[in-house]
Amino acid sequence: MISISLAAQTPTLLLVIILVGCVLSVSVAAVARRSQRDGMVYWAVGLAMHTASLLVFSQISWIGEVSTLFYANVLRACAWAAFAEGLSEFYRRRPARTLIWSPVAAILLTFAFPGENLTLRIVVISLVFAAQDVLALWLMWQERDRAPGRGKYFLMTGLLIAMTILLLRAMQAARGASAAMVTLTGSSPIQTISVLAVLVVMMLLSIGFLLMSKDRADELNRILATRDELTGLANRRCLNDALASEWIRARRSDQSLALVMIDIDQFKRYNDHYGHQAGDECLKRVAQAIHSSVGRAGDLAARYGGEEFLLILPDTDAAAAERLAETVRKSVEALDLPHLHAPSGRVTISIGVAALGSGFHESVDSLLGAADEALYRAKHGGRNQVQVALASLPRGLPSGSAAGKLVQLIWRRAYESGDPEIDAQHQKLFVDANQLLGAVMVATDSSELGKLVDDFIADIVQHFQDEEAILTKVGYPGAADHAGLHRALLDQAFVLAERFHRGTLTPGALFEYLAHEVVARHILIVDREFFPALGSNGRKPLASDAPTDALTAT
Ligand code: GH3
Ligand code: MG
Ligand code: MG
Repeated sequence: MISISLAAQTPTLLLVIILVGCVLSVSVAAVARRSQRDGMVYWAVGLAMHTASLLVFSQISWIGEVSTLFYANVLRACAWAAFAEGLSEFYRRRPARTLIWSPVAAILLTFAFPGENLTLRIVVISLVFAAQDVLALWLMWQERDRAPGRGKYFLMTGLLIAMTILLLRAMQAARGASAAMVTLTGSSPIQTISVLAVLVVMMLLSIGFLLMSKDRADELNRILATRDELTGLANRRCLNDALASEWIRARRSDQSLALVMIDIDQFKRYNDHYGHQAGDECLKRVAQAIHSSVGRAGDLAARYGGEEFLLILPDTDAAAAERLAETVRKSVEALDLPHLHAPSGRVTISIGVAALGSGFHESVDSLLGAADEALYRAKHGGRNQVQVALASLPRGLPSGSAAGKLVQLIWRRAYESGDPEIDAQHQKLFVDANQLLGAVMVATDSSELGKLVDDFIADIVQHFQDEEAILTKVGYPGAADHAGLHRALLDQAFVLAERFHRGTLTPGALFEYLAHEVVARHILIVDREFFPALGSNGRKPLASDAPTDALTAT
């Protein structure tokens, strides 16, 4: 049977530890060649000096007691000062050199006074070394949030063990056991425990420091894999992952989810005029402004591509997302970056907002599409503005829950075509949409809803006819194509209305089609193509139009 005894042969143990120390310092030095700024070189030198101090101590019988104590302890103090330097470099701190190297001076001082009081010397030396440990622990504690991973705990455990052993040695020496602490002949439990502790501490410090460096490299890789190199925002891959998971989470917990799509205005011209490098610089500035406007935990700002950005805002409804988008828009405007070819003379952004209401979007792509559609309207409404997707309207909700969430279509002067008849009819369709929405929200009975739907569709039919006549009269070349679009829209509207009357389509779904496809997409976007053919039109929105958003929560 193997018996374990604390009275092991100290010289044998020392030899083992010296060998281990050599292997560790060479290993750390090898790693240090790759990660030079992590303090590894200091750490390797520290381990080598620590091993050297043990080597000196192992030769006490022929070097002599006082000389051995002097060289071994000075080397050890230097080793720990090197560790502290390494830690400072790892944390990118300016090393507190006076504090770091003063223990070495203290050890030198203890030998400057001749005297044979071994006990006092051991107590003082042990306390100085313990103070060095406290210094390293204090540094690590201060920086505990800056080192990712678990390596730091290995290191801190090593430091705590070293400190405990040193304090125990000081106490034992004070009790008169100092003679046993400087001998290598025979075996004493104090020496065995101390030497074994040195082994454990050296292993913990080396492994801990290597792990810390590896954890940092892993963290850096993770950041590189998820960040956009130019702007520092989340990259497309990270964005896709976040979109997928936030979509699932919102669906599962029945919470809202808002997407804010941002595009820099006239950026091609900016590049053409100021050069690609200045374009990159501008992208960075805009990204910073976007990033600093998005503060809530869980929100994500990402570069969607080229000069487009996307914000993912979990648990945020359309109104809150619109407010945030407006803040972002203003903060980019406030950068006041000159842009000679932009109408306002400076760099601006256009923004489209879409939010997940109650089941309006079947997939994350449809929500993205809605944000894109709103962005398209923001561009065509004159840029430097925020638009909210009409599909963000809440759909057919049970009575009561809709209160306070009612959203209305608000007519703006920016939507005018220039032809008074067309504009009057467009406004009437806005009113129809609002009435139908109001009825859907308060769960009006189906015959009442049916009448509103029929009136709405009758108004659309009438309007399309009149509009086609006006377009033909002014000789608009695309009149026939436009009439074709009207027919397709009406065909679909009739099919959906029929399904609604049969009870196989919810009023919310019918409303979504009429408001989104007919009013938002057709009247607010497609119709703009013929505005220039009507004379006084195609004008830019006036300041009094802003924000030129058709949707207002009431
Ligand atoms: P709009 O107001 O309609 O958005 O017009 P725009 O010119 O901004 O839009 P468009 O999509 O035509 O042009 C986008 C430009 O963005 C084209 C491309 O050269 C530029 N771009 C995309 N990525 C980068 C980039 O990483 N750096 C620089 N400097 N330019 C980029
Ligand atoms: Mg673009
Ligand atoms: Mg652009």
